[in-house]
Amino acid sequence: MDADDADFGGFYKVELMNREEAKKVIAVYEMQNLSSDEKLEILECNYWFFGDKEGITEAIEEGSYPEISEDLIEIIDKTPDPFLNAESEGLVVDYLVNGLKYVTNLYLQTKLKSINPNFKDKIFGEVERAGLCPCCEYYSIDYGEDGLWDICPVCFWENGGEGPNHMTLEQAKFNFEKFGAINKDSLGFVDKNGAKKYCRKE
Ligand SMILES: [Zn+2]
Repeated sequence: MDADDADFGGFYKVELMNREEAKKVIAVYEMQNLSSDEKLEILECNYWFFGDKEGITEAIEEGSYPEISEDLIEIIDKTPDPFLNAESEGLVVDYLVNGLKYVTNLYLQTKLKSINPNFKDKIFGEVERAGLCPCCEYYSIDYGEDGLWDICPVCFWENGGEGPNHMTLEQAKFNFEKFGAINKDSLGFVDKNGAKKYCRKE
């Protein structure tokens, strides 16, 4: 369906929304629904360079820290402790946006509709290039070398061969098909919506 002919009796014309914007709207909504403790946990686990501007810049150069803007570095630098304010909540949003990497446009659209039933926009934009999980075969991990040692959110397979997973790939695949994770102990860690979020290998 083209956006042009999607006219709901003249009352609502379907607009297009860029996937980056969609991710941001969802992340802000999710941030607002987190408790203070949950927000602090995200900040402490993911922004461990609080108060150290040189450290962040160095880590970005080394590639061990995500490429973030100068503005964001300034914000982290000015936040000696991860207390909650509009700025640090911005970091939580940033973290949540990052968690929506590789999800399909359809997932974003469905999610926005669940937040607001009147939402009718169509999401456009190319999905980021993701790596294929060898176990569940969803495009759910980082691409190429970046995806080495990534743990798949859909099935919990660690992308580093059979060793770190303590089982054969064949067994993990069998378990995933049978009950939805590489083994029963991992069931609590998989993303229950994982299969709806990502594209599966055809
Ligand atoms: Zn997987």
